Amino acid sequence: MSIPAATTIRLVDLHAQHEELKAPLQEAIAGVIESSGFILGPAVEAFEAAFADFCQVPHAVGLDSGISALELGLRALGIGEGDEVITPANSFIASSSAISFTGARPVWVDVERSTLNLDPSLVEAAITPRTRAIMVVHLYGAPANLVRIQELARAHSLALVEDACQAHGALYRGRRVGSFGDFGAFSFYPGKNLGAMGDAGVLTTSRPDLAEAVRSMRNYGQRRRYEHVHLAWNRRLDSIQAAVLRVKLGRLEAWNERRRRVAATYERELGDRGIELLGADPEGTPVHHLYPIRHPGRDALKLRLEERGIETGIHYPIPIHLQPCYQGVGVGPGSHPVTEAAARELLSLPMHPHLSESDVERVIEAVRTFSS
Ligand SMILES: *Cc1c(COP(=O)(O)O)cnc(C)c1O
Repeated sequence: MSIPAATTIRLVDLHAQHEELKAPLQEAIAGVIESSGFILGPAVEAFEAAFADFCQVPHAVGLDSGISALELGLRALGIGEGDEVITPANSFIASSSAISFTGARPVWVDVERSTLNLDPSLVEAAITPRTRAIMVVHLYGAPANLVRIQELARAHSLALVEDACQAHGALYRGRRVGSFGDFGAFSFYPGKNLGAMGDAGVLTTSRPDLAEAVRSMRNYGQRRRYEHVHLAWNRRLDSIQAAVLRVKLGRLEAWNERRRRVAATYERELGDRGIELLGADPEGTPVHHLYPIRHPGRDALKLRLEERGIETGIHYPIPIHLQPCYQGVGVGPGSHPVTEAAARELLSLPMHPHLSESDVERVIEAVRTFSS
């Protein structure tokens, strides 16, 4: 008798997500085709209004990506050549490259060992007369320590920027992330908690001046048609993506809740097995974009899970300050030890809202047998 081969458990499963919403997604896309308005227009405005409402902010500006939200937001703050922006060493490259694109310099600060988010106790020492802003990253879907960082930003008259590209819907003290800083940046890369069917992003803000500046910068610096007050880019959100996002936004809370339940099961079943789980800020309600665990035998564990048909990921294998593209900036190995250890030890387990109970059990069983 042959045992049926177990299906692969994916790290992220977009297919299941689209199956769930097939009819409304097709209808939304058909509506845009019917209108033949593919750039900005009513579909983009409707999504911007819905996302602003969701994030409890007055303004949301639809863009072509998360990195554009970061870069254009920083530019709208007037940040550029000669300025410094403090940002965590542990993140996806775009948090830092967005700073570099403005002409400013990213100043990396290490992260807390427990949460792997920006360590507030290390921020003050990194502030210089050139510092203009502190960028927090709510990495893996977990809010950074916003209260401490907000205090520091106020005390030193610095702007506060939130890279919320992995944290759609996360709360801090009951308020949405992306509503605390001068602006928040979200990515709708397909694998994010809220994902488009291509690239897309949004900037959230309570500041009308920033919203207006970014609206102009995304559209060739136009004030009105064919009057260009700045030299600027094309970084617009397109209408088909906006229509898709508006449909999916209606499912985001339920999907995030399912992610929290999967995370709670992982925590309960793995926490006592010599597996080191990440800690959480008690003020935060995370949305578990990813579920990284720490293991000294990370690479062997990854192989073992692969053999059992379980996909995993490493977020991230090379810290930003050690990336080839940042060679020669004078920050070498050993400068951010918590981030560097995380790069060696982290392994992201499958995490998405369409994992079944038996998928979760299979992952837990495979990790447990490896560790005991
Ligand atoms: C995905 C991501 C970005 C960039 O978003 P894009 O839409 O790919 O440009 C920025 N920061 C973080 C933390 C991300 O995870």
